[in-house]
Amino acid sequence: MTESVEVDARAFIDEANRWGAHNYEPLPVVLDRGEGVWVWDVRGKRYLDMLSAYSALNQGHRHPRVIGAAREQLERLTLTSRAFHNDQMGPFLAELCQATGFEKALPMNTGAEAVETAIKMVRKWGSEVKGVPDGLGEIIVCGGNFAGRTITIISFSSEKGYRRGFGPFTPGFRTVPYGDIDAFRAAVHENTIGFLIEPIQGEGGVVVPPEGYLAATREICRREGVAFMADEIQTGLGRTGRLFCCDWEGVRPDVLIVGKALGGGVYPVSAAIADSEYMDVFQPGDHGSTFGGNPLGAAVARAALGVILDEQLPQRTDEIGAWFMEELRGIASPHVDHVRGKGLMIGVVIRESSGPARLFCEALMRRGILAKETHRQVVRFAPPLIIERETLENALEEIAPVLAGEGVALP
Ligand SMILES: *Cc1c(COP(=O)(O)O)cnc(C)c1O
Repeated sequence: MTESVEVDARAFIDEANRWGAHNYEPLPVVLDRGEGVWVWDVRGKRYLDMLSAYSALNQGHRHPRVIGAAREQLERLTLTSRAFHNDQMGPFLAELCQATGFEKALPMNTGAEAVETAIKMVRKWGSEVKGVPDGLGEIIVCGGNFAGRTITIISFSSEKGYRRGFGPFTPGFRTVPYGDIDAFRAAVHENTIGFLIEPIQGEGGVVVPPEGYLAATREICRREGVAFMADEIQTGLGRTGRLFCCDWEGVRPDVLIVGKALGGGVYPVSAAIADSEYMDVFQPGDHGSTFGGNPLGAAVARAALGVILDEQLPQRTDEIGAWFMEELRGIASPHVDHVRGKGLMIGVVIRESSGPARLFCEALMRRGILAKETHRQVVRFAPPLIIERETLENALEEIAPVLAGEGVALP
């Protein structure tokens, strides 16, 4: 009996490998159900989801309010295209702007599209408002960045694997080391139009910049007339214990980029958000998306944002995350170098001599905890923000022995 259902799980994996491109290397678990912080595999085994789809599930799986909004909208109207108006997009954009304190928002679908939108906005702002000749504007980015997978975005990646074989690349970007204020100041020149930054680098390995870095670079941007673009696709919407990670340093970006959890784990919704000075460079016809601002996505995003605000997920995350990080730091292990992060965006850095973090993720999986390595040596813990402290207490009883090496295929 057990054997035949195991064969089924293997069959799903084999089928995906046979028919799919091999652009991912997932853990060997096949899921078919989710609720709140839990997911179940096809054999009925329950796991705690500590990845949350890279923070796209801050509200948890199938949050009733998000599902309810989706269901209601599915019964009425799902897609109009932007050739016509719909009754969900306006309220969605108003609620998004009110929650973030900006004048305007431009809705897209995936995070990469929202980043592309921000780049286009700032490039056009650079030529039309700042007065840098069209085509000469330069955007500064940081080493170790991750902002998506389009050709332009990988053009400024410092990760060889993201770029190899995909050239030619888009020019107009300059890279500085993440967290280095002096390097940033030195890189700014008269044609610098923007600075694109993740307030914590997620895919880069949960890298937290030195305190004061965001505020200092923000101030340099203000003085030099450089647009400060915060990519809060992963750090935003409560993940780090503030509504946005920039809030930790009282930084208000010029362009705020959101995605992932804005879709409530149901539907891809992203946006570039800015004041009119930037947003008004867009004219009818110069940018768009067939699905951007569609009524189904807008209704889902309104509910997803409503959950974050009404359930006070940033405040909850601040408390529970600080406690959880201390607990992780308290685990005695020869394999852990250090623990870093903010709120419930936490990276446990595994020593190179103990092998890749993947081995620890595999051991966690066998004990019912789903986490994924980022950047080879880091185990990321980023559960849905609705998680209860008691659930994490129980999880720690599984995490502690694994971090200590129990059940890990150490080298
Ligand atoms: C995930 C992510 C993106 C890209 O979002 P997609 O929806 O995968 O295109 C961009 N920036 C950051 C910081 C991210 O974490």
